[in-house]
Amino acid sequence: MKKESNLKRLLEYAGGYKYLTIASWILSALSALVALLPFVYIWKVIKEVLDVAPNYGDVQDLSHNGWMAVVFAVAAILIYIAALICSHLAAFRVQANMRTKAMHHIVTLPMGFMDGIGSGKVRKTVYESSAATETYLAHQLPDKANALATPVGLIVLLLIFDWRLGLLSLLPVAAAFVIMSVMTGKRMAKKMEEYNNALGQMSNEAVEYVRGISVVKTFGQSVFSFRRFKEAIDNYEKWVIAYTKDLRFPMMCYTTLVNGIFAVLVAAALVMTSGGVTNGFLLNLMYYIIITPIITLTLTKIMYASENKLIVADAMSRIDSILEMEPLPETNHPKHPKDNSVELSKVSFRYKDAERNALENISLTIRPGEHVAFVGPSGGGKTTLASIVARFWDVREGSVKIGGVNVKDILKEELMDTVSFVFQDSKLLKTSILENVRMAKPDASRGEILKALHDAQCDDILEKLPQGVDTVVGAKGVYLSGGEQQRISIARVMLKNAPVLILDEATAFADPDNEAKVQAAFSVLAKGKTVLMIAHRLSTVTGADRIVVIKDGKIEDTGTHGQLKDKDGLYAEMWRQYNKAAKWKVGVSNA
Ligand code: ADP
Ligand code: MG
Repeated sequence: MKKESNLKRLLEYAGGYKYLTIASWILSALSALVALLPFVYIWKVIKEVLDVAPNYGDVQDLSHNGWMAVVFAVAAILIYIAALICSHLAAFRVQANMRTKAMHHIVTLPMGFMDGIGSGKVRKTVYESSAATETYLAHQLPDKANALATPVGLIVLLLIFDWRLGLLSLLPVAAAFVIMSVMTGKRMAKKMEEYNNALGQMSNEAVEYVRGISVVKTFGQSVFSFRRFKEAIDNYEKWVIAYTKDLRFPMMCYTTLVNGIFAVLVAAALVMTSGGVTNGFLLNLMYYIIITPIITLTLTKIMYASENKLIVADAMSRIDSILEMEPLPETNHPKHPKDNSVELSKVSFRYKDAERNALENISLTIRPGEHVAFVGPSGGGKTTLASIVARFWDVREGSVKIGGVNVKDILKEELMDTVSFVFQDSKLLKTSILENVRMAKPDASRGEILKALHDAQCDDILEKLPQGVDTVVGAKGVYLSGGEQQRISIARVMLKNAPVLILDEATAFADPDNEAKVQAAFSVLAKGKTVLMIAHRLSTVTGADRIVVIKDGKIEDTGTHGQLKDKDGLYAEMWRQYNKAAKWKVGVSNA
């Protein structure tokens, strides 16, 4: 895959639109050649003026030649526009196809992959990388064809009229080429990658910073407390300054050379005409001085074309980095879970690039309909354990079974119908509440959805909203608290009615009323289902059939609340702390 040229791969993305791209190159090159014709007519104009001088009244073809110059100049522009129309049609197709391909691939990736990379980076990769190819295909490649055709035509022109002056005007060009290749060599490719990395990191950290802005404000911190964000900016700054300094000298030489062609010509002319000047030589000299700016323009075009090729190469490899991520393998011999039990045997799991296992040799059997609560210190592995049951990740050692079947042998769709996950931060989309809930079951009737919302204790939310269940989430003036959002997402899970439930309990609630309602919704939801619940407050676990204490990726203890609270262990300690805190809370509210 890597060995194919980027251009070839881009054209593959274009599909049938490939031919439009090629047409755009041909038209653009043609336009470059036509654009040179006005200069021939200008030469004729100068020649006639010099020929008849000083009897300027004798001119005959002057206006004809002038108009011909105009006609060809306009024709060149029209042909160029046609080229751009072709190139844009193809470029937009490529961009759309790249995004589609990347998005289709992302869907097949393990659910956990977004967490690892950061959604800011994924967005930048998919969106900006494909956009980077747009400029390249729509403008740079046709311009490059244009820029390559121009010198060919130019050299012919330059050598026809006076080969000595022609060669002289090419001299600075050759020097500029040497400098240019030094500037855009291998070193630049590496620099470009560094640049994009620095930029990507900065955008990632910026997203994190915005997320944490409430913390910053609450505690009166400055941006300096977001060390990583500041570091990313500093890094970027350092990089840009170093890069600019690096290019200072070559850029200076280059600009001087390509803009100074006329100076070389004038100096040479002085030497050549020391013996006296002829009309013909004067004509050609003036002509060359007029025509040299095209050389400068052409060179500048070529230079930018080659520089942006690196951006595209980098963009392609970024898209590839997503496409190369391994999707969750789908089984060819799917099996159906026999019941709603969950069984982990000797499961160990390590996050990519992590130094130690997040789960270590976990064995646990959950009977159908059993309610199990997971408790333990933060970072112990509770969320990880729940994630592997829903197959957000595949385990490396051991097996995870649902209904006696390895989750790897269950079709993705069936697994999703079997296991529901209620996240801590529920995500609602910017559409009506009705549609938000309907996502769980696209063919659900309005009545079913309203019933689910009712069961999830959402009646009070619907009452206070202007258009009830048809209110668009995130619309102006519509505000839903975290607890309210969570209740709506519980309605979603209610509607789906999957037999195995994973609940990641919210860490904190703003108000007790909301907490009570969420708890009530949870208990309706959990009825008759196998439940794995990650509990952050012990008040909610006392009623569980079994409590599993997880610490450092291992099961530290298991039992009912009654068994564990009197045992000398982590749970008893947590229970003591919890009661102390509860008493303290009561004390404060009484005061
Ligand atoms: P808990 O839910 O009990 O607080 P987690 O399951 O979230 O614990 O985390 C268990 C361990 O795995 C921690 O050391 C945490 O830093 C690590 N971890 C969690 N998520 C990721 C991830 N996406 N990538 C790498 N490491 C992770
Ligand atoms: Mg957690």
